Amino acid sequence: MTLVGGIEAGGTKFVCAVGSGPDDVRAETRFPTTTPEETIGQAIDFFREQREQHGELVALGIAAFGPLDPDPASPTYGYITSTPKPGWTNVDFAGPLARALDLPVAFDTDVNGAALAEGRWGAAQGLDTFIYLTIGTGIGGGAMVGGSLLHGLLHPEMGHVRLPHDRQQDPYPGRCPYHGDCLEGLASGPAIAARWGQPAETLPVDHPAWALEAHYLALGLVNFIVTLSPQRIILGGGVMAQAQLFPLVRRRVLELLNGYVQSPRLLEAIDTYIVPPALGRRAGVLGALALARQAGPPA
Ligand code: ADP
Ligand code: ZN
Repeated sequence: MTLVGGIEAGGTKFVCAVGSGPDDVRAETRFPTTTPEETIGQAIDFFREQREQHGELVALGIAAFGPLDPDPASPTYGYITSTPKPGWTNVDFAGPLARALDLPVAFDTDVNGAALAEGRWGAAQGLDTFIYLTIGTGIGGGAMVGGSLLHGLLHPEMGHVRLPHDRQQDPYPGRCPYHGDCLEGLASGPAIAARWGQPAETLPVDHPAWALEAHYLALGLVNFIVTLSPQRIILGGGVMAQAQLFPLVRRRVLELLNGYVQSPRLLEAIDTYIVPPALGRRAGVLGALALARQAGPPA
């Protein structure tokens, strides 16, 4: 059994786990994200305790908020880079953990981790090219392309694609600190709350907010469909708890593509093309374990 450690590092909380997969999580803990010293220290303490109890770990996986540096050849590999989160700008995240625990560390975005986990154990099993998007406090996307997680220059920033924005229909200017009305600026949970003057989770299911949200999400997805050609799209994150969004997004995607992308996966099986994560809210922490298993010896 390949026992690994995983950290789902979010802007508000860390979730740390030890195990080998969804059916074998031996221990899990969560604590708020405070300063890097304190939060990384707590993670180190947790894994030290766990290996006393369960035996040696093979590797550690970190699936983190970003932007971050996932390039092992870079001098700042394992760093959180230009994040606006106070205290975390240009912080070495993987290094202190690797040294304190003396383990190989796999370091990637939370959404690339979630994509990997969904491919291994969830909604994208058997596929080699697919994307995982989270629609929450921010919007982020991870991508598996031809069987490898997509990094390239740094890593994808799918939440920041630019969309047509009809200011007559929707005067809300958007809230991305860098771009205003990019996808994240228009369609994140906080954008919904700011536009309508109440938290997204309190809007009734038949509120016009959801058709507009579906429209923006569909515009984003159409861009990803025509560039990456994903075989499936997984939509997670707090906002997608609004299950009525799925049929609205599917319909709008087909309208916007207007018959141009000819695949039965899209045209005949859209309900299985745009789907929620099969791992649900566990995709993040399981993503960290999946990353670790890639770093360690083959399972
Ligand atoms: P994070 O992105 O911080 O990791 P979440 O994915 O839970 O966390 O996203 C939080 C965002 O999702 C908040 O903006 C919140 O208003 C929104 N949200 C949470 N639950 C719901 C819900 N049931 N319906 C609509 N929006 C929700
Ligand atoms: Zn942006």
